[in-house]
Amino acid sequence: MNEIILCKYGEIALKGLNKSTFESMLVKTMKRRLRNAGEFRISKSQSTLYVEPVNEESDVDEAVDRLCKIFGIVKICRCCVLEKDMNEILTKSLDYIADTMETVRTFKVDAKRSDKRFPMKSPEICVEMGGAILERFPHLKVDVHDPDVIVTVEIREEKAYVHAGQLDGAGGIPVGSSGKAMLLLSGGIDSPVAGYMMARRGAIVDAIHFEAPPYTSERARMKVEKLAKLMTAYCGDIRFFCVPFTEIQETLRDNCPEELFTILMRRLMMEIAQRICKAEDVQSLVTGESLGQVASQTMYAMVCTDAVCKMPVFRPCIGMDKSEIVEIARKINTFETSILPYEDCCTVFTPKHPRTRPTLEEVEKAQASYDFEPLIQKAVEQTRVEIIKNF
Ligand code: ATP
Ligand code: MG
Repeated sequence: MNEIILCKYGEIALKGLNKSTFESMLVKTMKRRLRNAGEFRISKSQSTLYVEPVNEESDVDEAVDRLCKIFGIVKICRCCVLEKDMNEILTKSLDYIADTMETVRTFKVDAKRSDKRFPMKSPEICVEMGGAILERFPHLKVDVHDPDVIVTVEIREEKAYVHAGQLDGAGGIPVGSSGKAMLLLSGGIDSPVAGYMMARRGAIVDAIHFEAPPYTSERARMKVEKLAKLMTAYCGDIRFFCVPFTEIQETLRDNCPEELFTILMRRLMMEIAQRICKAEDVQSLVTGESLGQVASQTMYAMVCTDAVCKMPVFRPCIGMDKSEIVEIARKINTFETSILPYEDCCTVFTPKHPRTRPTLEEVEKAQASYDFEPLIQKAVEQTRVEIIKNF
């Protein structure tokens, strides 16, 4: 049976004059993400995008799965496409929705008739369809207030569409509509979630990772690349910057007070990240920090870290509990990879008693005791970049 996928967008519909810019960004993303799932035609009508498979090779299951991960889409319906003939609608569509109808107990029918020449009015379509459903699935009852499923019949210009229920889309606004963000990506649970949340609000996400070989292994870096790869299902292609950080960490260990090691390291990470942002026209930094989670994530520590930053630092996980972050990590499929036990440069030389209330004055003084500038420049120069592709 022929099928079509309807994608409804949420917040974009509320945009005023910019609406068409957002729409075309969304359509561009959809085309890109459906690449190699077969050919699809995309068209638009009244806050809905219609995704139509073109031939046998068009993989509708795969397309639905990918569309569910595109920001800007709030609901997705998979419909059967029928001739605009009530007899055909009453027979064939029931086969199509049978699997769903077997699993629910109550339903209601909703009819939309954009072709006003169609001989039946919407309420009549509802009555006919409702009757046919009750006859075919005798266990069902009608509930117009709180049904388990809504069966929708749409009579459009060319064809009729029928579906039973809709899937949740990814929400948010289209990637590309809010500027570029550089995510500090570690191998942990939190930073992939932070990147996902920024992309959900329309940011193009690049990632920067600091590695410290031989203290950190090749496999640790590969794990982070894998996380970036998993994120591309939502964010699209990601530019991945990998910074050699060993020399800076050894120098810190040898020249600065141990209890300030973590905070100084984080300041130097920010310093390097924002130089790369400047060169690459990226407007913000993003971390996976959550307030009070560890010593370097107290407000005192963040004051010291942010003092070196001349661009906004976004921390979308800041007010979330670990369990809430984990829930999102599971949903976006990064959790299982994040918990693989590889070392991170942050865990190398971890101080025994990190300061939870450092003052900016003492931190600046400690950092000034050594000239890090040449090392920073060298790290920036030796940074490698690769593009991690969605497919
Ligand atoms: P995560 O789960 O994201 O690793 P975390 O709870 O382990 O976070 P930290 O290790 O203190 O916290 O790191 C805080 C944040 O600093 C991370 O969320 C990430 O944004 C950044 N970060 C830590 N290590 C690295 C690294 N090696 N490369 C890039 N960014 C890092
Ligand atoms: Mg970590």
